[in-house]
Amino acid sequence: MTSPNRATVWLRLPSGRCDPVEVDIDPPDTLAALTKWERVTGRTDLCVVTVCPAPPGAGPPNPVLGLPAIAGEPADSLLDHLTDEHGIGTDTGRFVLHAQGVSGLVKEHDLDHTENSADQLGHAHPSTW
Ligand SMILES: [Zn+2]
Repeated sequence: MTSPNRATVWLRLPSGRCDPVEVDIDPPDTLAALTKWERVTGRTDLCVVTVCPAPPGAGPPNPVLGLPAIAGEPADSLLDHLTDEHGIGTDTGRFVLHAQGVSGLVKEHDLDHTENSADQLGHAHPSTW
């Protein structure tokens, strides 16, 4: 039984804009999502959480996916992981990083895991924090 509410985690960008980085998650998963984005950004004060009732007939909440191992710069670790394990070219990775910052890399990574099963990708990221 999941909560009838859905939470969204927003990341405040340097421009002042907020970017939704975890959408329609189960509110009890918010802490995991915040921990994840703190690890990505190295900051604790960039995330804003909103909670609203799930629309009638809404599907199950989205899972909060785990991160690859991060050593040193999150952007470098993510680029390496996307290139080595996801077959996403360095050029594409660098383009995403340039265009959207490190949060774009995480979203690209989450998307690839959402669209492909762990079997297809040959690895998974348990989201235990
Ligand atoms: Zn991965």
